[in-house]
Amino acid sequence: MNDKKQITVTSPLLPPLEEFIPYLKQIWEKKWITNNGEYHQELEKELCKYLGVDYISVFTNGTLPLITALQALRITGEVITTPYSFVATTHSLWWNGIKPVFVDIDPATGNLDPNKIEAAITPKTTAIMPVHVYGNPCDTDAIQAIADKYGLKVIYDAAHAFGVKVNGQSILKAGDISTLSFHATKTYNTVEGGALVCHDAKTKQRIDYLKNFGFAGETEVVAPGINSKMDEVRAAYGLLNLKHVDSAIKARHKVADKYRGALEGVNGIRLFNERPDVTYNYSYFPIFIDANKYGISRDDLYFKMREHNVLGRRYFYPLISEFSTYRGLPSANPANLPVATRMANEVICLPMHHDLSENDILRVIELVRK
Ligand SMILES: *Cc1c(COP(=O)(O)O)cnc(C)c1O
Repeated sequence: MNDKKQITVTSPLLPPLEEFIPYLKQIWEKKWITNNGEYHQELEKELCKYLGVDYISVFTNGTLPLITALQALRITGEVITTPYSFVATTHSLWWNGIKPVFVDIDPATGNLDPNKIEAAITPKTTAIMPVHVYGNPCDTDAIQAIADKYGLKVIYDAAHAFGVKVNGQSILKAGDISTLSFHATKTYNTVEGGALVCHDAKTKQRIDYLKNFGFAGETEVVAPGINSKMDEVRAAYGLLNLKHVDSAIKARHKVADKYRGALEGVNGIRLFNERPDVTYNYSYFPIFIDANKYGISRDDLYFKMREHNVLGRRYFYPLISEFSTYRGLPSANPANLPVATRMANEVICLPMHHDLSENDILRVIELVRK
């Protein structure tokens, strides 16, 4: 086997260039390149159809919809969230002057553990911000029950959950707002991009104002908004990629099945269980290494893979609560987060994308099984 070729952890889904040219020609002809153009509107419509939701607003990246969601729902005080995520989740709270309160996660999913949420609620708590990590659905019913009991809003960071369904229903229907990322590394990308899903026309209107400086007409500004609009070039690219995302997810599914078949039952390796009622998007393939049983540590495996030109990723390590910005928070104490701390030390995401060859997959499996 050729050990020379580098196997990256991800690879962007790029639409065929020749299919993109006609879209670009249209944009050049119209000379309308941003500000709620035709492709922007069409992308919102097509995403609603594809995802099975009623209201979506597309953004220039996946972090601004999180920040904007908190603005739109006027969230203040403290918000309960997970330390086991990409750092943007917590940053969005900080940018709104909100104190993050970290709660531990469920080892079966890597998501916020609903059984531990109530103990973290104080009179200042106004919302819960869970993450469907790796596209694993949160226990949305249990989270909603707590939110209803205490009068809290729920904003899901669904950056990993593009197209994920439970019993045929979009996971994006849960909570008050869900946000998506269309970053190059995600299952579906618009180069950079993102979206916000809400459930009524009034909220969608407010979001659309907020992402355009708060303008509600030519001379009217109704809120201190921001600029997070998606431009026409990326909206067109997004429309095109939407036609290819299903085959990319299919290819990822095949990779996941091969990894699972080869690695399930290997001593010291833990995989997440797949639920029969969930439609997954196979955005990541995390494995968890128990050094005592596996023989070497997660880091040893990670560096061994690198030596062989196979790039895994320790995602999510370190925990958000371990970064110096957040380490001082009382809830960031590792004693408060034993499950998250352990999983962060055990996790390694294997290469996962639509472009892995049979040979690539075998190289990864061989390295991990050894
Ligand atoms: C990628 C990601 C984001 C941020 O999205 P960007 O599009 O990169 O701004 C937020 N949360 C999670 C969990 C992510 O993985």
